[in-house]
Amino acid sequence: MYGEGDACAAVMVVGEGPGETEDELGRPFVGRAGALLDKMLLAIGLPRDDVFICNTVKCRPTYDDGVRLRNRAPAPEEMANCREYLDEQIRIVRPRVLLCLGAPSAKSFLGPKFSISRQRGHWFVGPEGVPLIATFHPAYLLRMTGGELEATKRLVWNDLKAIRTKLDEPPPAPPEPLVEQASLFDS
Ligand code: URA
Repeated sequence: MYGEGDACAAVMVVGEGPGETEDELGRPFVGRAGALLDKMLLAIGLPRDDVFICNTVKCRPTYDDGVRLRNRAPAPEEMANCREYLDEQIRIVRPRVLLCLGAPSAKSFLGPKFSISRQRGHWFVGPEGVPLIATFHPAYLLRMTGGELEATKRLVWNDLKAIRTKLDEPPPAPPEPLVEQASLFDS
């Protein structure tokens, strides 16, 4: 399951890996976490169809608990195996912002020292020079309740607003034409 959405999207969302529902339907973020992600994006004026959504790994990472298959975090080797697909997706979509959901996604770009609690909401330079920002995974929010949930929602909202602000900035100027190219048009 590779991803879906606008192939020319300004925002590319990178999750961790497909869960059970995603695996069944062959689509990313279609379970409960997906519904919350859709709401989060819409809150900053981005309907789901306007972004590109994918994951660090393209197959569901599972383990067998003796009764059924359960989700697990992707192993570094699995992420490395899928990386060329992810890099190619970034090259094709050329988004203005890469949004990493959760620590495993951010670590896959920024290295194992990345701390989601300290470094979410900060801008980094991602692959192809694309501005990259991380926030908490919607599945993490879904596991919270009460005051902890309210406080975490506020942090996520700040991160989302930072993305809106970035998108509202004028896009970077296209590169200057090369002198040799320009001289083709000299008379
Ligand atoms: N969680 C993820 O990280 N990715 C999905 O596609 C679904 C849930």
